[in-house]
Amino acid sequence: MKTLWTPWRMEYIEGKNGRESGCIFCAAPGQPHSAKDLILYRDPALVVLMNRFPYANGHLLVAPARHVADLCNLSAEENASIAAMLTRCSTILRKTHNPDGFNIGLNLGEVAGAGLASHLHWHIVPRWHGDHNYMTVLAEVRTIPEHLDNTFARLLPEFQAQ
Ligand SMILES: [Zn+2]
Repeated sequence: MKTLWTPWRMEYIEGKNGRESGCIFCAAPGQPHSAKDLILYRDPALVVLMNRFPYANGHLLVAPARHVADLCNLSAEENASIAAMLTRCSTILRKTHNPDGFNIGLNLGEVAGAGLASHLHWHIVPRWHGDHNYMTVLAEVRTIPEHLDNTFARLLPEFQAQ
């Protein structure tokens, strides 16, 4: 899989984002957001991140604040908070990115494709009619036209608004 226009990838290659040093969902503890870690929102129940390796513009990740691996580890309150946040994320992305639809889901365990299986997380991927999948399938090329920093700057005020 090749990805076009990915200036942030050099940071990854150069090891500047500290991925190796720990869990991305547990980064910047105690801070409500972090541009460096792409954390858009945090409260006692959950955290919302932008995916550093997105399938599409606005690809978000929602995870419980606690470092837990399985659905059965979640309390009823955490489940309810996460469900409400998935709805809120879709509402925000409709406003900022005007998608035609979404893929929203969970990969449970490495065998199911979870990149970070030790910390449960949901993916929210905005979709547009005629978006990149056609190109991905045919040419193994993925186009991400908007830089992650720009997307972060557009989304952060929405998550800060109550
Ligand atoms: Zn974690």
